[in-house]
Amino acid sequence: MIADNLSTVKASIPSGVKLIAVSKTKPEEDILEAYEAGQRVFGENKAQENQRKAANLPTDIEWHFIGHLQRNKVKYIAPFVSLIHSVDSIKLLKEINKQALKNDRIIDCLLQFYIATEETKFGLSLQEANELLNSEEFASLTNINIVGVMGMASNTSDEKKIKGEFLDLNNIFQQLKSGFFASNDSFSEISLGMSGDYQLAISAGSTMVRIGSSIFGKRNYIS
Ligand SMILES: *Cc1c(COP(=O)(O)O)cnc(C)c1O
Repeated sequence: MIADNLSTVKASIPSGVKLIAVSKTKPEEDILEAYEAGQRVFGENKAQENQRKAANLPTDIEWHFIGHLQRNKVKYIAPFVSLIHSVDSIKLLKEINKQALKNDRIIDCLLQFYIATEETKFGLSLQEANELLNSEEFASLTNINIVGVMGMASNTSDEKKIKGEFLDLNNIFQQLKSGFFASNDSFSEISLGMSGDYQLAISAGSTMVRIGSSIFGKRNYIS
């Protein structure tokens, strides 16, 4: 089932777009099934769950952290995480830097933006990101690398609204690129799109889609 779903999803994504298989809440057997079908990039949203899965599963898996991250939980994922999608404050970024240093690593991060019209979603505004990137605190961080932006659209069936929010994030990406990262080729990622809206996201310039239920089936609880 999972292998079939995975190949259907893969076939619907252009080769330049990275597929993050969102395995949050799913058992390790399910991840192994996708792994055996060739998938190497998985997304989790709880630090301790991610830590446990990383310890038990093949070491060539690339783990992406996609959930809201509390500062006191960074230590659980810092030894292995490939990319943190959900950076929404300088305080969190400082803690990631500290834990990256401890592990003698440089950790790639995305800045998460608030593009939806729902209060339940997290993320920076463009103004907050400008302040963060201009701050002396940010300039002093040696072990983090900002490689792009992430966002989540409103939970609506209104495709025009979703597309508009996606294009807002693309616009934010372009502004940050020219303002702060013009000479930095690694600032190149737009993490956008989930099971219900990834085709729209790709048409709005997404370079990474985060797909859970279309691969692993419905989750038993909302998280
Ligand atoms: C759960 C989750 C996804 C995947 O959602 P699906 O609708 O199951 O594809 C993507 N991004 C984030 C941030 C998530 O928390």
